[in-house]
Parts: sequence; structure tokens; C-alpha cells
Amino acid sequence: MDFEVVYNKKSAEFDKTKLAKKLIAIFGEANVSQKEIDILSYSKDFILLSARWTLDGKVAAKPDFIVWPTSAKQISDLLILANKVKVPIVPFGAGSGVVGGALPILGGVIVDMKKMDKLLEINDQNLTATIQTGKNGMNIERDLNNKGYTLGHIPQSIFTSTLGGYLAHKAAGQFSTKYGKIEDMIISFEAVLPTGEIIKSKAAPRTSVGPQVDKLLIGSEGTLAIITEATVRIWPQPEKRALVSFAFEKMEDALNSVREILRKQVYPAVVRIYDSDETERHFGSEKNYKDRCMTIFVCEGDTDVVALEEKVTKQICLKNFGIDCGEAPVEHWFETRFNVSEISKYTPIGVIVDTIEVAIMWDGAANLYYETIKAMKKVPGVVTATGYVSHAYPQGVGFYFSFSGVPDKQSPEGFSKAVWDITMESTVKSGGSIAHHHGVGVVRSAWMEAEWGSIMPLLKKIKKALDPKNILNPGKLYDGPIE
Ligand SMILES: Cc1cc2nc3c(=O)[nH]c(=O)nc-3n(C[C@H](O)[C@H](O)[C@H](O)COP(=O)(O)OP(=O)(O)OC[C@H]3O[C@@H](n4cnc5c(N)ncnc54)[C@H](O)[C@@H]3O)c2cc1C
Repeated sequence: MDFEVVYNKKSAEFDKTKLAKKLIAIFGEANVSQKEIDILSYSKDFILLSARWTLDGKVAAKPDFIVWPTSAKQISDLLILANKVKVPIVPFGAGSGVVGGALPILGGVIVDMKKMDKLLEINDQNLTATIQTGKNGMNIERDLNNKGYTLGHIPQSIFTSTLGGYLAHKAAGQFSTKYGKIEDMIISFEAVLPTGEIIKSKAAPRTSVGPQVDKLLIGSEGTLAIITEATVRIWPQPEKRALVSFAFEKMEDALNSVREILRKQVYPAVVRIYDSDETERHFGSEKNYKDRCMTIFVCEGDTDVVALEEKVTKQICLKNFGIDCGEAPVEHWFETRFNVSEISKYTPIGVIVDTIEVAIMWDGAANLYYETIKAMKKVPGVVTATGYVSHAYPQGVGFYFSFSGVPDKQSPEGFSKAVWDITMESTVKSGGSIAHHHGVGVVRSAWMEAEWGSIMPLLKKIKKALDPKNILNPGKLYDGPIE
């Protein structure tokens, strides 16, 4: 069956028959596919427009082969081969990325990491776990919970994403204010460089020995290495949990409360501030929170610490005119936090729905929120533009904006791009960072220069030095807008 392809109009050229034989020699027949059903399965990630494309009989980008490695050595052999025959190699976790990072936009070989899914070791004394990166996030958490630990990395996509995807896209989970983001969790790693060398770092609580290579690879979106293994920090499962919620008349009061709580070095695991539209959407319009900003906190850990965190959190929210809404809204959040049914409900009736997350220091936070919502609403066809704080730090916050609308005279792609562009512009103008935790992929590549400025040439040099033939995930991060 023929499908219109959105991205890879110019696929790389190589002899497919010869390559098939070589891939089988490395991975074995059962771990190599060029069946149409597999090609189609790996022709998309979770760019939100891909639901629209599926309904229109389009696919985002088609690979030529899919392989399922079981060792770093096989990946190394693949990359050595790929440099010889000049075939693009695209690492793939679970395809839950929302920016097109895992799309094979120049065709080539998808390296699906899911068979590298072992929890290799738990070290109780060091509080670490060593895990292969193809392991699904929920399976990591379940296996750790069964032994009395948690990683504390709970993204909304936990059922459909992998450790490798988290490291590559610099992910952030819902409990991140206490446990940190993925870059705070990694202690050491094993990875295969684009030219095939296998590298492995030493586990240490901290080092002071030259530049930090793991920081270079985290967030590199499969362009500088395929990460095969990581040793991560783990924690004993929390003894106690306290659920706290407050509704605020003004977004500024909610922001000030969170800022003051973190300033006191009190770190609730979950911190979220919903604007009034998001509050109605998620929590309904009970009189205490109608037209207000619902703010929820989950404090967890040692019983005494939780009691103190709960006390300080409540005191500060009350001081900032918050209305105590009790545990019920947080219980509701726990029940609904993985529900993402809106996209499948609205796409078939022609509505485009998407989300955009950005980051900003405290002194620009309120301004960025108001300016961005205003800017999004100006795009013709936009019906709703809403936002919430999904992650908070002593220095600032991550905002998560959502929009929905019906393109008027534009194509779905044109409409979506118009809202993305105006949000990126508003973020840059407000001094924010264009992405908090979803990464760049193809959706944000046009904005890399605006984000990195004088550092962009250095990033390009690093890519060139590590991947001189541009084998690993070509067309991403360094190559500007994707046509
Ligand atoms: C409903 C929904 C909710 C989400 N919620 C969150 C959230 O709460 N927090 C959050 O941070 N993100 C969230 N995301 C986005 C997404 O889940 C993350 O970006 C996640 O990290 C992607 O993981 P993956 O395994 O699916 O990666 P993929 O989508 O398969 O790949 C993502 C990128 O990583 C690269 N890659 C994959 N594995 C490796 C590897 N082993 N080595 C090197 N590169 C690799 C790919 O080439 C690609 O560039 C959500 C997505 C959806 C659809």
C-alpha cells in the first residue's frame, strides 16, 4: 500500500539487498526486518500531528530496515558498517517522543533498543541500579518497587517510553522536584559512538576529572551516541505521602507560593500550578476553585520530613491567599494523571491539539505565561490556549502550554507551525528556554540557533568530530529547519 510520506522525500542511497545480508550477519535473521508492517510501525513517533496524518493516510518518515540489537557489540558492528556504506542509523526507544526525534527522515536503519531491557544490578549500599536502556519506564519502576526502591522518574508516558529515550530527550517526570530530572539521576553510562567505539564511564558519587562526557550525551537525541546502559540513583520507597492542594485567585500568588516554598529548601515531589482554564478542564468548577488556579503538591519520604514539608507548604500557600482545597483534587490527579484521551477524541473531528513546554527563571515567569497565552490566542483558528507549571525549581519553572483549534484556510501543518512559531518567539523574547523536557527533534530544529546563539558552531563542530560521516540520526539538531 502507498502512503504519502511527510518528511523523507530524499532518502539516502545504498544497496538494500547487500545491506540486508550484512545486517542479518550481525543481528541474525529474527532481529532484522524490512516487512511493510514493521516499516509502517516505525514510520511515526508521537508528534501530535501524526494522529492527523494517520487518518489522512500519511506517514511521517519511512525507514528501510529495523534491527533489534541484544548487545553493545552488535551496535558497534552496525555503526562500523554504516560508516562504510553511508546508511543513516536512528536509535529508537518506544517512539513516545513528541518532536519527531526518532523519525528516520533520511530513511536507513531503525535500531529498536527494546530487547536490551535488563535490570542488571541493584546495589543497596550505593543506592544505584544498572539498567539496559531499552527497558520500559514502567517496568523499571515496577521491578524497583518490588524490591523496595523507586527511581522517582514518573513521566506521563511511563508506560510507553524507555530509559534510552529519557536520556536522549532529557526527560522530566511528575515527581521531579524531589527526585530530580533524568540528568540528576545518572551516575555512569555505557554508549556506542557513531564510529563504533564502545565507551563506558566509571561509577562515582562525583568526580573532578576534566569535562563531563555524560552531560554531552544526555539530551543529544541519538545524534552523538547510542546509549546502551546506565547506572542510576535509586531511593528507598517513601514511608509516607501527604497530599496538599490550594486554589489561588491569581497565577502570581500561586507562583510566589511555590517560589517561597522552594526557597526554604522544602521540596515536595510533585508541584503543579494549573491556570483557571486548565483547572476547569482537569478538576471541574467546584466553588472553591472556579476561575482559580489549582495548585497541587505531593510531599513524600520519611514521615518526619513529610510532616514538616506539609506544614511549611500549607503555611506559605495560606500567606499568599490560597484556599485550602484538601486532598480530593490531588487524589483526582493521581487517578487521571496518565489519561491522554483528548488527542484521539478530537483529531477525528478535525481539531488540532498540541502541547509546548518551555522553561523560564522566576523573574520572567509571570510575564512569559501571560504573553504566550495572549500570543497563541492571536493565531487564527485557535480555540483554546492554556498553561500550567509542570516542574519547579528554586530558580524558575517549566510551563506546559496546550492549544487546540480548527485550521481556517491553512493546512493542519501550517496551523500547527503558526502556533509553535509564535510560542517559540514569545519564549525567546521573554528570555526563556525553548524546551523544558520534550527535546528538539524536527519540530524545534529551526529554533536551535535562537536558543544556543554563539554556542551553536561549537555544537556543530562536536557533531562533525564525533560523527564525520553524519551517520547517527542525520537531519536532527544541527541541520536547521526540516522541509
Ligand atoms: C502522552 C505522552 C506523555 C508524555 N509525558 C512526558 C513527561 O511527563 N515527561 C517527559 O519528559 N516526556 C514526556 N513525553 C515525551 C516522551 O515520552 C519522552 O520524550 C521520552 O523520553 C521518549 O522516550 P522513548 O523511549 O519513547 O524515545 P523515542 O521517542 O523512541 O526516541 C526519542 C529520542 O531518543 C533517541 N533514543 C532513543 N533511545 C536511545 C538510546 N538508547 N540511545 C540514544 N538515543 C536514543 C531517539 O533517536 C530519539 O531522538 C510524553 C509523551 C507522550 C506521548
